[in-house]
Amino acid sequence: MFSNELTPIIDIQTATLSLSAAKELSAMQNETLRPELTPVGRAEFTPKIAKNSLKHSDGTLVDKYGRRITYVRLSITDRCDFRCTYCMAEEMSFLPRREVMSLEECLRVAEVFVGLGVTKLRVTGGEPLVRKDAMWLIERLGALPGLENLVLTTNGSQLDRFAAPLRAAGVKRINISLDSLNPERFKKITRIGDLDKVLRGIQAAQDAGFRRTKLNAVMMRGVNDDEFIDLVRFAVSNELDISFIEEMPLGEIQGRRNTYISSEETREMLSRHFDLVPSTENSGGPARYWRTSGSETRIGFISPHSHNFCDTCNRVRITAKGELYPCLGQNDASNLLPVLRASDSNSKVLQAIVDSMGIKPFGHDFTQQMDSPQVIRFMSMTGG
Ligand code: SAM
Ligand code: SF4
Repeated sequence: MFSNELTPIIDIQTATLSLSAAKELSAMQNETLRPELTPVGRAEFTPKIAKNSLKHSDGTLVDKYGRRITYVRLSITDRCDFRCTYCMAEEMSFLPRREVMSLEECLRVAEVFVGLGVTKLRVTGGEPLVRKDAMWLIERLGALPGLENLVLTTNGSQLDRFAAPLRAAGVKRINISLDSLNPERFKKITRIGDLDKVLRGIQAAQDAGFRRTKLNAVMMRGVNDDEFIDLVRFAVSNELDISFIEEMPLGEIQGRRNTYISSEETREMLSRHFDLVPSTENSGGPARYWRTSGSETRIGFISPHSHNFCDTCNRVRITAKGELYPCLGQNDASNLLPVLRASDSNSKVLQAIVDSMGIKPFGHDFTQQMDSPQVIRFMSMTGG
């Protein structure tokens, strides 16, 4: 069914789209492989960081609180073929192409991080699989010596055709967002998405041999909270893991406080239907897991509000613009793009990354911010 690269975009255009979304999708369609390198003066790079190097004596990255950074989330596009209500505004404007890292630049950033001891890299977005020639990059990331764990987060809409190549490229594990199993509700939450296509994508991932694929469901009161039991059953019967995520105040979206549900509340509710046993397993990310008897499924909770995981934070995020955000919940960032474009040598990039450890804060406080977020970037901007 997905005979060529444009097919899904054509599908999307037949769905109901706002005018600006349609324009963006058409721009996406015209996106070239690798935006030309646009030289940007070094002067534009203004690190807001301590001058002292935070590179460990063994060459690894540590922040000023002694946390070792081994995990990078790399956003390769801010664009998406969905408009999930909790993630994006309906009318989104996306980055102009020249401001987006080229795929070569993404690769250079990844190489430098791996050289600094990063062993896990998550490709994300926006929707990473709508980036033209995303596979060009993913294949090269999969071949990076020292990168032990290449993983991907996707909305699943394109997996149907990409699952097998992703597996062949060395992607170890996939996370797929799935907030509802009801087609109309799914469309309402994503504003565009086609549930069937995502379910086909999940099946394609299974068929391609991916194991421990994880579903991600954002918990929203009055939106999908009556489906949590069904989502767990779906995960169990398809041998998938599932994580429930507390909604975070990223970007201005009305009513978050009303829809917010804590992990605790969901876990308590689920424990009335499933025999939940706490697990010490750790996937290297922020989720805490439970198992349910008679199945391999892990039921995870990502609880940035109710169980702040900042003290063990081992990760940083790179946006599609080449900004390095040491914390999802704060606004401080270093801008790697001018450094990347100033020279072909990676030594300055390495130094900028090492220096950025000086601005990694101890943590965030999302709970205080549900009504008026301090972080005005949508999740799709920073990369989930
Ligand atoms: N497009 C891909 C997807 O949807 O999986 C990858 C990017 S998306 C930004 C990554 C994850 O962030 C998704 O699981 C999504 O549900 C989650 N997310 C987005 N906005 C969020 C928010 N405000 N609070 C909590 N999770 C959010
Ligand atoms: Fe797109 Fe993922 Fe954000 Fe949904 S959560 S709008 S699929 S980036």
